[in-house]
Amino acid sequence: MTEPMHCYRHPKRETRVSCATCGRPICTECMVATDVGIKCPDDARLPRGARAGVMKADQVLRSILAGVGIAVAGIPVAYVLFLLPFTWLISAAAGYGAGVLINRAGGRNGGPLAILISVLATAVPFLVLLAPDLLAGTLNARPLIAMVFAVIAAGVANRRI
Ligand SMILES: [Zn+2]
Ligand SMILES: [Zn+2]
Repeated sequence: MTEPMHCYRHPKRETRVSCATCGRPICTECMVATDVGIKCPDDARLPRGARAGVMKADQVLRSILAGVGIAVAGIPVAYVLFLLPFTWLISAAAGYGAGVLINRAGGRNGGPLAILISVLATAVPFLVLLAPDLLAGTLNARPLIAMVFAVIAAGVANRRI
């Protein structure tokens, strides 16, 4: 049993149908049948996936600023992480947190650009700390694995379907 809802375009009309994309209730007159379900006119007009992963210029700028901030703030964080047990696990959590912050800064759009910024912002602190070992050729697997976990988690936080 579904509660009767009211069409978002016609508040006086009751409906039991809602848009497959945005979930807003729509009346039978407004609904558009698509091959991926019933949609509101706004979403039916857009090609699939057009709402996700598209950031406006100011959102891109905010994402980049957040990414730079996280890259800088992440250096001491990564330094502490390397001293702790379960570095990879905490790194993954920190990476995910960084990804979420960047996602929010970009208006929660997610998408390829947000993933790229998150991945770079998360990788930078690790690379800064690992650079001496990298150059000396004495890099061991532990910090590298932690970096991979953090980077993947940051990317996953921005994944949108
Ligand atoms: Zn919709
Ligand atoms: Zn309607």
